[in-house]
This record gives sequence, C-alpha cells and structure tokens, in this order.
Amino acid sequence: MNREYSEILADVKEQLLYLQELGVENLSVELPAFDASKFRLPAGNITPPPAAKTEIPAERIERFAPPPELVKKIAEPPKSTSNEPPASRLGLLESTKLSRLAQQPKRESLFAGPTEPVEKPPMPKKTVEEDLTASLFGDITKTLPESKETIEEIRADIGNCTRCPLYEGRTKIVHTTGNFSADLMFVGEAPGADEDQKGEPFVGRAGQLLNKIIEAIGMKREDVCIGNINRCRPPGNRTPTLPEAHTCRPFLIREIAVIRPKVIVVLGNTACQNLLDTKVGITKLRGNFQDYYGVKVMPTFHPAYLLRDPSKKRETWEDMKKVRDYLSGLK
Ligand code: SF4
Repeated sequence: MNREYSEILADVKEQLLYLQELGVENLSVELPAFDASKFRLPAGNITPPPAAKTEIPAERIERFAPPPELVKKIAEPPKSTSNEPPASRLGLLESTKLSRLAQQPKRESLFAGPTEPVEKPPMPKKTVEEDLTASLFGDITKTLPESKETIEEIRADIGNCTRCPLYEGRTKIVHTTGNFSADLMFVGEAPGADEDQKGEPFVGRAGQLLNKIIEAIGMKREDVCIGNINRCRPPGNRTPTLPEAHTCRPFLIREIAVIRPKVIVVLGNTACQNLLDTKVGITKLRGNFQDYYGVKVMPTFHPAYLLRDPSKKRETWEDMKKVRDYLSGLK
C-alpha cells in the first residue's frame, strides 16, 4: 500500500512540476469528501484531506520539488534555451513520461504542422483520355482550341489500333470521312456490319436514310463530315461499353478540333451521351441546341431508330430544320 501511495505521490509531483513549467501559478481542485470507513487502513495513520474546494498557492507547488534521489546531479547545467526545460528539472524530466511531453515542440508548433517538408503521395495516373482532352482543352477553357494536328496525323496515331477490345472483331477501322472543312458534322455511335466491311461510316440502310436527311436540308453528303464515337464494330452491333467509348472518343475530339464545324448533329442516345458526357437521354435533349466547347450540338434520333419507328421522322425533321436555319443565319 505504501508503495502505491509513493507512486501516486510521485505522479502528482510530476504533474505539478509540469504545470509549473507551463507557468501555472494557482490550482483550484475539487476534492470529494473522504470516507475513511471505505478504506481498510490501519487506525491512526489516516489524516483525512480537506473535503471541499482546495486552493494550492504557487509557493506550495514549489514544495512538491522532486525528492533528491530522483534528481540527477548536473555539475555544470547547460544554458537553457527557449525550447528546453530548465536545467534544474532536467534530471527528473528525463525519467518521466511527462518529461517526454515537455520536450515535444511547443503547443503552437504542434498544431502548426511539421517543419520538415512532407513527401506528398504520388498523384494517380491520368487516363489516356484525360491526357488527350487536357492537352487539347486545358481544364477551364470552354471554346474549341486551335489544333496543330492534321487529320492524317490523327489517322497515323490511330494506326492498327488495339486500344480497346473492339479491335478483336473488326474487319476495318471506320474513320471519319467527308469534307474536313465542313460546317456540319454528323456523329453516330459505332459502325455496323456494312460499315465494318467497307471501312466507311453510314453506308448501310441507315446511311441511305442519313443521305436523304442531309439532302432534305439542301446539302449533299460530300458537303458534310461523318464519324462515330467508336471506329470498330461491336460484336452483334451491341452498344459500346463506356470504357470502349471513352478509349476511342479522344480521336473524334481531336478531329473536331481540326475540322471545327459550326454544328454537330449527334445521332442517337449513345453518341449524344458520350459526346456531351451526360446521362440525360436523347428524348429530353433532342430538338434543342447543346454546347460543346462553343460548337452547337443538335441531338436527334439515329437513322437506324427511324427505320424501326418511322413516326419519329417528323421530330427528326423538326430538329434538322433548326440546324438548317442556324447554318443559313451564319451566311
Ligand atoms: S474502337 Fe477505337 S479505340 Fe477501340 S480498337 Fe477500334 S479504333 Fe481503337
């Protein structure tokens, strides 16, 4: 029991010393009432402490000076600096947990953060698309940037592309074709069977209908430019996955920056969502010009869909009239 008392007393002394180091001059302590009957102590050894509020003045704190056996004698105490504890306390402080706390940087510097430069964790690698898009558009510009590339250079970069799994089932890569100085560009989803065989976009039945749509607004196919988000035919004409679309789309974006059309007509839901990076469906977006880095974008139905549901041709015609009128207004 005496040993426990000694340890408690030593702890109290340490804490008082530390408070004194911090400049605490007075302590106000609430002590509970002491009930000796709860302790089995030998009679006559008990001196109950005061039951109520106790004030400990500074001079009494001094009386809790460390016992001589705990103080390491220092023949020539080193000069104290602002960050070091006073030399007279050094021996005791070295031997206590609180001493380690006292030797830590001062509270402000603890909160001010480490003074040593901290090595930052490496940034995650950008995707190819982010790199390509960032190199074209930076991260804040909302206008189509100048491109120093040519269509031929982009084609050369695409090469015998195997960047996404769609290369496995293709016969030919279907590149953007037409007039590369056109004011009007059409963008579809991906090649179908006919396009895959010929290596040209929109040459099947849907392509023939697209030709009629172009002629309906007073233009010819050779006046416009036609491309797809994906250049390789997905197996069974399925919709390209998002990673497949995102892998191929940068080539189209680079072409748009070279061609600089005044209007892009996106054909169908997949092309619309992938070009505009939106989850909003074609039925909500169609008929209203959208913006793509300063280029007007008109979403409308895909000709293949019009072949399945001819009743939608009327809406497509309304959309195309808006395109025609906008382009006429620029002349
Ligand atoms: S779809 Fe595009 S990215 Fe995928 S293999 Fe074909 S050209 Fe390359």
